[in-house]
Amino acid sequence: MVIIRIALSVPVDILFDYQAEDASSHDIGLRACVPFGKKKLTGIIMAIGTETQVPIEKLKSVYCIFREINPLPPALLDLFQFCSQYYHHPLGMVIMNSLPVLLRNNKPVKLKDSAQHPLRLTDSGRRIDITTIPARNRVARRLLTEFQNATILTAQQIKQISPRTSKLLIEWKRLGWVTEKPTIETSPSKTTPIPTLTADQANAVTTVTAELERFNTWLLHGVTGSGKTEIYLRLIESALSHDKQTLVLIPEINLTPQLEAVFRARFRTVLLINLHSGLNDTQRLTGWLQAQRGEAKIILGTRLAVFTPLSRLGLIIVDEEHDSSFKQQDGLRYSARDLAIFRARKTNIPVVLGSATPSLESYFNAINGRYRYIRLASRAMQSARLPSIQYIDTRIHKSQAGLSEPLLKALEKCLANKYQSLIFINRRGYAPVLLCKSCTWSALCQRCSSRLVVHLRDKKLCCHHCGHEENFPRACPQCGNQDIAPFGQGTQRVEETLRAHFPAARILRIDRDSTRRKNAWKEILHAIHTHQVDILIGTQLLAKGHDFPNLSLVGILNADTSLYSTDFRASERLFAQLMQVSGRAGRANVAGHVLIQTEFPDHPLYHALQQHDYDTLAQALLTERKIAGFPPYVYQALLRAEAHSIKIVLNFLKQAAHLAEPTQAIELYDPVPAQLLRLKGMERAYLLIQSTSRKQLQTFLAEWYRQINTLPTRQVRWVLDVDPIEF
Ligand code: ADP
Ligand code: ZN
Ligand code: ZN
Repeated sequence: MVIIRIALSVPVDILFDYQAEDASSHDIGLRACVPFGKKKLTGIIMAIGTETQVPIEKLKSVYCIFREINPLPPALLDLFQFCSQYYHHPLGMVIMNSLPVLLRNNKPVKLKDSAQHPLRLTDSGRRIDITTIPARNRVARRLLTEFQNATILTAQQIKQISPRTSKLLIEWKRLGWVTEKPTIETSPSKTTPIPTLTADQANAVTTVTAELERFNTWLLHGVTGSGKTEIYLRLIESALSHDKQTLVLIPEINLTPQLEAVFRARFRTVLLINLHSGLNDTQRLTGWLQAQRGEAKIILGTRLAVFTPLSRLGLIIVDEEHDSSFKQQDGLRYSARDLAIFRARKTNIPVVLGSATPSLESYFNAINGRYRYIRLASRAMQSARLPSIQYIDTRIHKSQAGLSEPLLKALEKCLANKYQSLIFINRRGYAPVLLCKSCTWSALCQRCSSRLVVHLRDKKLCCHHCGHEENFPRACPQCGNQDIAPFGQGTQRVEETLRAHFPAARILRIDRDSTRRKNAWKEILHAIHTHQVDILIGTQLLAKGHDFPNLSLVGILNADTSLYSTDFRASERLFAQLMQVSGRAGRANVAGHVLIQTEFPDHPLYHALQQHDYDTLAQALLTERKIAGFPPYVYQALLRAEAHSIKIVLNFLKQAAHLAEPTQAIELYDPVPAQLLRLKGMERAYLLIQSTSRKQLQTFLAEWYRQINTLPTRQVRWVLDVDPIEF
């Protein structure tokens, strides 16, 4: 009896056995459709055997095995398995959620005839002497002659030669005379010359290229503007010359048009995996299959792309490795960066983590020698200097709707010189709220415990957690005071002040609302690059990655709100963010200035920032973490739970804690309500578990996870969050 063991997308972490007489070990990694209860489900075959624990009368037969596309490669199945075990999430759900939508349903894939692709004559095809083909094979002779003349023939051209070539072409592909593979095009377009590498860049490229054949985690720590992208491009070129694929993971933000353009200017064959929301399901599947077959050589995507099947993977790049969007914040809470490292190790290839402000975890690993460390200390362009950073003490300089006099003066000067400026508003833990100054009532969301954010333009109050909207109240609902006003500086308020102050300036505000529209980013970036904008106003969206050559001044508001946060990662994030924003200034021929408004100009973090001194601050933060017992000195996990009432949640967490069998190596804390208690009508709490040993933590979690699964949890939703980055 032949048994297939299938991973199905159901919330139970086991494989399901079915009978399948025609199955063989070649079918591992293929999709199969099976009866499940009253339903039909499609999953992935993980193993083949001859025995099963399922009693014979209960054993069902598979409906069908889909063989029209290649199976998922073993290395990818390993990655799924590791991911499922490490993050304690059912294997079938891990796999099925990562697949293109068209592979999740119960239907076979309908592929276009592969003869649709243009075909290219290979070198061995070129060497074939036409006279060795018997003269009676007229079609073959003609086709080969045409190929030898033109090298590449489209499907249509081939059809014109003869409508009956498909068998012949299959044979020629097998012989390696023709190929569907696109030619590798490494020559850049004429408009973008390839720069000569700086000494630092050249050193980075040679060092990594020398070890392309084996696993290493490289931390590429280069100041903003040091030319990390160029290094990526050269490394990709190296991989290409070995006919290897490169996977490039980028943060989930909208800088992609720019990065995409840079890649496309250099390489013809760039595949975007999950970037364009404009792609339909068939296009997504097609791209995925090209990656699986090894035809797509450069694969660019956000965190989900780490699960792309890649038969010829030779290099992984994680750009802006410190970015929190690499960690998924719901469902399967995986870190794409960490999985990328696992994948690289399994495949025995290098993985390059790039950042101007590495996460403390990565920095820690680099200085301890677990990662290989490469530094780039200066900007790539001769003319580009790191910006000067100054502080405006807001205890001395009074401000006008958040903008101090010195900042306004600097803006004026910048305008007069026809340079661009950027006002960055730190919004972490901060947003304009509606406040009654006489009784301190503030507008709260009914469903969440968070404050509603004021949207001046459409006179609305919005909840940024659940999307709830309501109108401005006429008077304070608590005391009747009619003088209730927005408090704090939102982007819109700053915009109004600036417009009043600089009526002639072209001002552009960039936030989630203004970028939601399709193509909005493309247009915005175009406007900035062609200098149709004088002053930009924005939040985190503007902080990362962009290259605005004409930007000279950066003003920063509200940074202080993150200085004394309860979140132990707040300082690290603030520093990274300020470094990134400051890095937008003075990238080309324009000198850059950064002005930061603060009440604490002597804070060590600001000192380090002024000196562009990542190391001193990183070392200080590491010392703090060591003393306090925080990561990277310990490993953490959270048991997160939510329900309609906090009582139920806390009760559940207490029960779960009761089931745990802590050892000496494991610390188990008391359940605490989440800082944002109510979210989308659910109340939330968590329980922290930590250990100095990752292995012991994992062993503990595996057993505990099994136990928690036995609890009655009809009213509670829960999940384990391994290596959490948000509390
Ligand atoms: P990073 O990603 O490290 O912040 P970028 O890759 O965006 O830096 O490069 C910053 C700028 O320097 C870009 O405009 C880029 O074209 C330019 N650049 C990169 N390498 C060189 C080089 N070797 N010579 C001249 N300019 C370079
Ligand atoms: Zn009031
Ligand atoms: Zn809400």
